[in-house]
Amino acid sequence: MAPVIYRCPDDPGGCPSTLSPGFCAVHPATMLEAVRAAAFTTGETPAAAEPAEALTLRFLGRLIEIPPEGVEIGRETGPLASVPGMAELTQVSRLHATIYPLNGRLYVRDEDSVNHTYLDGRRVTVPRRLEAGQVLRLGLDVELQVEGVRYDEFGLPS
Ligand SMILES: [Zn+2]
Repeated sequence: MAPVIYRCPDDPGGCPSTLSPGFCAVHPATMLEAVRAAAFTTGETPAAAEPAEALTLRFLGRLIEIPPEGVEIGRETGPLASVPGMAELTQVSRLHATIYPLNGRLYVRDEDSVNHTYLDGRRVTVPRRLEAGQVLRLGLDVELQVEGVRYDEFGLPS
């Protein structure tokens, strides 16, 4: 999360902002407002952009973000490789599956893994669309929960 700064609501661009709450140095009666630094540094209010929706994978208590360009899933490939304990999960192939975007959706395909890829219990033989709420399973019992994540207008996960 971006750090919070405090700025004057009367003249946000002109009055000095601070890193702690208090009153404006120019307008002593005006209480400073807390804002996120990410919004402040651009010098303008964030555009009313459509909040983007994306998916994450919850795995061994961690949230693994799926970047827009997709991600490789494997014991020695992609973000899973750096999860502690991953090296022992030998039923997961070095490169097991790939998640990739197509027409604004995310799909998963098996990469000829030894122990196969399953989506909600069904073996993935052709690319399958990935959606929040599904369970992606690698081999017998290595499960990743597919979760939705929504970004706020600051581009931060909410
Ligand atoms: Zn002020």
